[in-house]
Amino acid sequence: MVELREVTKSYPGDVTALDAVSLTISPGEFVAVVGPSGSGKSTMLNLLGTLDGPSTGTVLFEGQDVSRLSDRRLSTLRARRIGFVFQQFHLAAGVSAVDNVADGLLYAGVPISRRRARAREALERVGLGHRLGHRPHQLSGGEKQRVAIARAVVGDPGLLLADEPTGALDTASGTVVLNLLRELSGGGTTVVLITHDRDIAAQIPRNVTMRDGRVVSDTAESPA
Ligand code: ADP
Repeated sequence: MVELREVTKSYPGDVTALDAVSLTISPGEFVAVVGPSGSGKSTMLNLLGTLDGPSTGTVLFEGQDVSRLSDRRLSTLRARRIGFVFQQFHLAAGVSAVDNVADGLLYAGVPISRRRARAREALERVGLGHRLGHRPHQLSGGEKQRVAIARAVVGDPGLLLADEPTGALDTASGTVVLNLLRELSGGGTTVVLITHDRDIAAQIPRNVTMRDGRVVSDTAESPA
């Protein structure tokens, strides 16, 4: 699905956020990226999501070297193939759940008449078919995150990237969100999430542990 080959990412001031990282994520995998703050997790997620490019090394998305794509093709790839979920939901305030989700199709070339219908279906899939008209302030944290996940997957992306998706939630809502991500992964979506929560990580089949910009352990590489 997506592969990092000897990827280094440096920032001005002599910061090496990623140091020669190689990682292959296969279609349908469910992966947790763990490690202390500042170890390079968000940098890695941004590179996997083609939001940022490497200083050296190669990022391959579905076999394509993303550095060879024009900005326009890269935006299209991101809009159609990758969904993003954030700790703080990033929903539009005052906008109904169904329209928040429909916005996930804005750049995917879906006509407006189809966007709402698909948004409704996506909300039903995350168990929020009864909350279509609710605005973010009328939803619980867990419900907001389910709306954000519906928005991320409404276009049926191959890859879903989530930065601390349960970080702002209580344990029960976090479990609901985790189960939903597991279901998506079971349905064939590749899911990569960052988490600080050991209990969450323990429930995810593959854990990639970062430290000082390097992968220090990857459970995919240990014998089963
Ligand atoms: P994590 O997500 O594990 O907390 P990050 O990937 O955010 O780690 O950061 C890795 C390192 O890169 C940190 O030392 C951080 O300060 C640095 N860093 C991240 N983004 C930038 C940036 N835009 N400019 C300069 N340094 C950055």
